[in-house]
Amino acid sequence: MIPAAFEYHRPKDMEGVFAVLTQHGDEARVLAGGHSLIPMMKLRMADVPHLIDLQDVDGLGGITVDGDTVRIGAMVTQAEIIANEELFKVAPIMREASLQIADPQVRYMGTVGGNVANGDPGNDMPGLMQCLDASFTLVGPDGERTVAAREFYEAAYMTDRADDEVLTAVSFAAPSGGYAYEKQKRKIGDYATAAAAVLLTKDGGNCTAASIAMTNLSDTPIYSEAASAALTGTSLGEADIDTAVAAMLGDIDPMQDNRGPVEFKKHAAAVILRRAIARAWSRA
Ligand SMILES: Cc1cc2nc3c(=O)[nH]c(=O)nc-3n(C[C@H](O)[C@H](O)[C@H](O)COP(=O)(O)OP(=O)(O)OC[C@H]3O[C@@H](n4cnc5c(N)ncnc54)[C@H](O)[C@@H]3O)c2cc1C
Repeated sequence: MIPAAFEYHRPKDMEGVFAVLTQHGDEARVLAGGHSLIPMMKLRMADVPHLIDLQDVDGLGGITVDGDTVRIGAMVTQAEIIANEELFKVAPIMREASLQIADPQVRYMGTVGGNVANGDPGNDMPGLMQCLDASFTLVGPDGERTVAAREFYEAAYMTDRADDEVLTAVSFAAPSGGYAYEKQKRKIGDYATAAAAVLLTKDGGNCTAASIAMTNLSDTPIYSEAASAALTGTSLGEADIDTAVAAMLGDIDPMQDNRGPVEFKKHAAAVILRRAIARAWSRA
């Protein structure tokens, strides 16, 4: 399908972005990789009279690892994340998760900023960011603020971001221990039926810290504090994992859709989480 007519803006700096946002209010939206927004416009599910392309705006790219802190600019693509060796060394879960997003063509265009700002429950990065306890930097006409990924998502396509704010970067502390991003999908290139991001640290035979987040099993990503707590301080025996899975199932709220009925999604979520825990533990 063909989208409704729109005016295309390509500013060189944030002042230019805010000028269009201020002038046109909710008739204007920023465009990053365009691989969520343009399909929505073509399907006439989004009507955006003013598109502001972020491509030429300075300061939105780059992956930096400074000691323990990782910062990824909003316009960094999933392909760049996969290719970055320094990032892989300190946060290999980023590559593991990005490789499971869509297909190479989408990953060359899709950006981390677009993925987390969109608010689509099917996107993989929001749950991953919650697992990493990342924070998002938002810049608006009145200045800059940071929001925890675990506080950012309100409902499907609704986030804490104001209409005139641009997400400029995601940041997180480099995780230690074992990791896994596990995703069940109907076919290559599909969104998750269920996905789990897991980080575990081990001391001797005991789990000293756990972080678990689930994707596409509610209208927001779900950081399961209860499932994470259920593993912490245990030796990850069968009963401990059963408790964590039950806690996760208590936190998610999947809906029936073309990926299956609710009971099937809960079953898939449990299988996926068990696999992710096992892989993360084996790497811890
Ligand atoms: C066939 C197909 C399969 C896909 N499969 C998956 C998948 O399995 N997993 C997955 O996670 N994703 C998937 N995607 C989505 C893909 O990863 C998108 O590229 C991504 O979700 C959005 O990134 P983008 O840069 O394309 O954002 P855009 O489409 O440009 O923007 C998306 C939304 O975010 C807003 N936005 C963008 N950047 C910013 C910013 N910096 N600040 C504030 N708001 C911003 C835009 O205004 C828009 O509302 C798929 C896409 C396609 C086409």
